[in-house]
Amino acid sequence: MAEAEIIAVGSELLTSQRVDTNSLFLTDQLNALGVEVRRKMVVGDDRDLLTASIREALARVEIVILTGGLGPTEDDLTRDAVAAATGRKLIFREDLRDAIAERFRRMNRKMAEINLRQAYAVDGAEALPNPNGTACGQWLEHHNRVAMLLPGPPHEMKPMFTDHCVPRLALRLPAQVIRARFYRVAGMGESDLDQLIAPVYTNYTNPVTTILAAPSDIQIHLRARCTTAAEAEALLDEVCPPIEALLGDRIYSRNGDALEAVIGAMLVKLSATLSVAESCTGGMLGQRITAIAGSSKYFVGGFLAYSDFMKEQLLGVNRQLLDAHTAVSEEVACAMAEGARKHTGSTYAISVTGEAGPESATGAPVGTVILGFAGPDQPAEARRVQLPGDRTRVRITAAQTALDFLRRKLS
Ligand code: AMP
Ligand code: MG
Repeated sequence: MAEAEIIAVGSELLTSQRVDTNSLFLTDQLNALGVEVRRKMVVGDDRDLLTASIREALARVEIVILTGGLGPTEDDLTRDAVAAATGRKLIFREDLRDAIAERFRRMNRKMAEINLRQAYAVDGAEALPNPNGTACGQWLEHHNRVAMLLPGPPHEMKPMFTDHCVPRLALRLPAQVIRARFYRVAGMGESDLDQLIAPVYTNYTNPVTTILAAPSDIQIHLRARCTTAAEAEALLDEVCPPIEALLGDRIYSRNGDALEAVIGAMLVKLSATLSVAESCTGGMLGQRITAIAGSSKYFVGGFLAYSDFMKEQLLGVNRQLLDAHTAVSEEVACAMAEGARKHTGSTYAISVTGEAGPESATGAPVGTVILGFAGPDQPAEARRVQLPGDRTRVRITAAQTALDFLRRKLS
C-alpha cells in the first residue's frame, strides 16, 4: 500500500494558539485514494530542521505533502527547504511572476517586491495554480518520490489538493476500490467492546477496523480495499455479520446518525411525541434532541428541575417521595417522567436524575444516575446506572445513556 507523510510547516502551529487541521483533511483524502499516512510532523519556520525533516520523510515514503511556508516573507522556507533537501535549484519562473502580478492587478493592489519570492519554484516542479491566493503550489517528482508543496491557509490548500493533486496521485496509484461499513454503539465501554469483537476483526488486515470512542458512544469503521467493489463487499460480508451478531441491539446506527437522530426517526415512525425532565444533565437532553432539524414534529418540550423544590413545582413530584427516597431514586425518576408526560400530554417522557459530583448531595455515590421512562401502555419504569469519570463525563454519559434507554424502550 502506498504510504505518505505530512509535514505541517509554521511556527504558529507549535504554539497553544493554532492547531494543524490541514493534515486531517489530507489524511481523509489520502485514505480515500488508498494511501496510508505513516507519520505527521509539525515543523516550525526553521530552515535546517525543515530541510532535514523533508530529507528524512523522502527517504521513508513515496509521498510527502507539505503545507504552509509558501508565503512571501523571510520565514516562509518551504521552497528553500525542499530545494535543499532534494539538491535542486530554485528557479525564477516568469509564468509564476505573471500570475502573481495578474492577481494583484485584479485586486487593484500594488504588488510588493517581496511577492517575487513566490515566483520561485524548485527545479523540475510543476506549478499548481492557486485561485484563492498568491502562493502557487508545486508538484515535484524526485527519484520515484513525489513531494507536494501546498499553501497553509485551508481555503487555499483544500481546493488545490482536490483539483490538482488528487488526479495526479490517482494516475500514480494502482486502481483500487474502498468500501466501508460503519457502526455506532451505545451501552458499553471501549475496552469491553474491543474484548468482545477483537477475536473477529484481528483475523483480518483487510478490511482495516478502527474503533473511535467517546463517552458511552463508540464508532466502529471497517474499510476494505480491493481492486473491485465486488471483492471489497465480499470481504465486508464475511467480517461484518459476526461483529453485528456479537454487538446485537447495542448497535444503534449503521449510517453515522447520532442517537438523537435515530430516536427522532423512531418517534416519527410511531407518530409519537416526547418530553424530557432533566436534573443532573441540566438541559443536555433537550439540547441534543432539538439539535435535530425537524424535531418539532415529535419533541414537545422539557423541564429543567434541578432542586427538589422545582421537581415538586414543575413536575408534581410528591414531597413525601423526595423525603423518603431522595431525588436520586427510582421512585423520583419515575415520578419525574410521569410528571413530564402529564404536564405536556406527550406520548412518552424520559427523566434523568443523579449525582454528577464531585460531591454527593443525597448520599448516593458520585456517578449514580437514575433514568426514568413513562409511556401510555405501562407504569413508569426506572433504570439505575453507575457512570465513571468526572462531572463532565458523568453528565455527557448520563444524557447518552438516557437516550439509549429511550431507544430500547421504543424498539
Ligand atoms: P503560511 O502558508 O505558512 O503563510 O500559512 C498561513 C496561515 O495558514 C497560517 O497563519 C494558518 O492560519 C494557516 N495554516 C497554516 N498551516 C496550517 C495547518 N497545518 N492547519 C491549519 N491551518 C494552517
Ligand atoms: Mg507560515
